[in-house]
Amino acid sequence: MSKAILWFRNDLRLTDQPALNAALRKYKAILPVYILDERLLQPDRWGFTRMGPYRLNFLLESLEDLRDDLKEKGSDLLVKVGIPEKVIPELAKAHDCTAVFASHEYTHEELQTEAKLASHLPLHLYHSQLLFNPEDLPFAVEQTPDIFTQFRKRVEKYADIPLPLDPPETIATVAFEAESLPTLESLGYPAPVQDDRGVLAFKGGALAAYSRLDHYLWDTDALASYKQTRNGLIGADYSSKFSAWLANGSISARAIWHEVEAYEAERTKNKDTYWMKFELLWREYFKYVAMRYGRKIFFKGGIQDKSVRWKNSPKALHKWITGTTGDDFVDANMRELLYTGFMSNRGRQNVASYLVHQLKQDWRKGAAWFESLLVDYDVASNYGNWMYAGGVGNDPRDRVFNTQKQARDYDKDGAFRRLWLHEDERDPEEVIAQLGVLQAEHF
Ligand SMILES: Cc1cc2nc3c(=O)[nH]c(=O)nc-3n(C[C@H](O)[C@H](O)[C@H](O)COP(=O)(O)OP(=O)(O)OC[C@H]3O[C@@H](n4cnc5c(N)ncnc54)[C@H](O)[C@@H]3O)c2cc1C
Repeated sequence: MSKAILWFRNDLRLTDQPALNAALRKYKAILPVYILDERLLQPDRWGFTRMGPYRLNFLLESLEDLRDDLKEKGSDLLVKVGIPEKVIPELAKAHDCTAVFASHEYTHEELQTEAKLASHLPLHLYHSQLLFNPEDLPFAVEQTPDIFTQFRKRVEKYADIPLPLDPPETIATVAFEAESLPTLESLGYPAPVQDDRGVLAFKGGALAAYSRLDHYLWDTDALASYKQTRNGLIGADYSSKFSAWLANGSISARAIWHEVEAYEAERTKNKDTYWMKFELLWREYFKYVAMRYGRKIFFKGGIQDKSVRWKNSPKALHKWITGTTGDDFVDANMRELLYTGFMSNRGRQNVASYLVHQLKQDWRKGAAWFESLLVDYDVASNYGNWMYAGGVGNDPRDRVFNTQKQARDYDKDGAFRRLWLHEDERDPEEVIAQLGVLQAEHF
């Protein structure tokens, strides 16, 4: 019997899953696996744990949900902790699988993993993170415009977004010994404390993703005023909060896009509903920037090869990560990130600008701290946005935010700052210690 591995990556879903559909078409049975890359559980070069407890918790919930969905289709999920390019060939050998099916990734480490794996086994890759298939675009990836507006106008005019694929009815699966999923505890992680001030109690998995989609569109009509509310700071509905589910692929960008269009057809079509699609195009754009520029998106000089002298002050960086800089708007946002794993887009723009322009620290340290803490960390969006903030990305202008003016504009009555900086506040040092996301010897 022909057998193949279905390797789940940032595509933790059965709906709109081209790799899964292709594997089932071409092979009699599949082995669904997820490999939790142990390298991501280690500290990075700045001393920050690459995947902190907020995202790991969300990921483990997502895997549990995926396993439940697979079971409903007569299948199951095998989860291992290790190095994918080593573990997958071993599993293939043990289960007589002769090929691997998976989704494309677009960034350096992930591409290296793919290349190593492909030297052991035929690897068939499909685009499941994108809105557009690269071959449908009116330009080659290497010619991705350097200005977002040019990218947007060309793709809006010339490219179609395929409809999401239905999930398979049943999934013929290779027999394997079921194992329990890893837990925070088994991985040596603490359970993060739930802070009730957070925008949302993020719950991983496709079930929660679709329920959030229904909530934001059909139940509350929040989408119909999204452009007006999207710069908010407090609460669940000023923006969609789709990012965390999009980042690990519990839901696809195409599924959201077409649901927005269904909403536009059935309920309201206005500048606000368009703006959700506009923002999804930003996400898309950063994927293409990553494809075009490869490793450069992680370099100090970014895609511009710009030479910038950063100051190296562990003290300043420590103040920034603990939300103790003295700038109350920056500090409130940094506390929200530390205590919940989330920060609004308005907050992210401000704290990034502050780190780069006020503290003059290397933008990559800020990107790495976000990588450790964000529940919605996405390599291309994070590094793409951070390059922007660092003045080494796609925007030729240096965008310096006046954080106090921003506070007056977006937190007029100070409610957001009071929420995160009141007197009997949690101690940020203790929270960092509790989360275990910082190797002290680096500071
Ligand atoms: C310094 C910095 C770092 C960031 N790091 C990340 C990251 O690691 N992961 C991530 O998903 N987003 C990142 N963003 C983008 C943006 O802040 C978040 O996508 C957004 O705040 C998530 O909340 P939401 O889902 O409610 O967004 P909404 O406002 O509801 O937007 C809908 C969707 O559009 C996309 N989107 C919106 N704004 C952006 C943007 N500026 N860039 C790319 N996509 C966007 C997201 O997929 C988002 O879920 C970063 C922004 C900055 C300034």
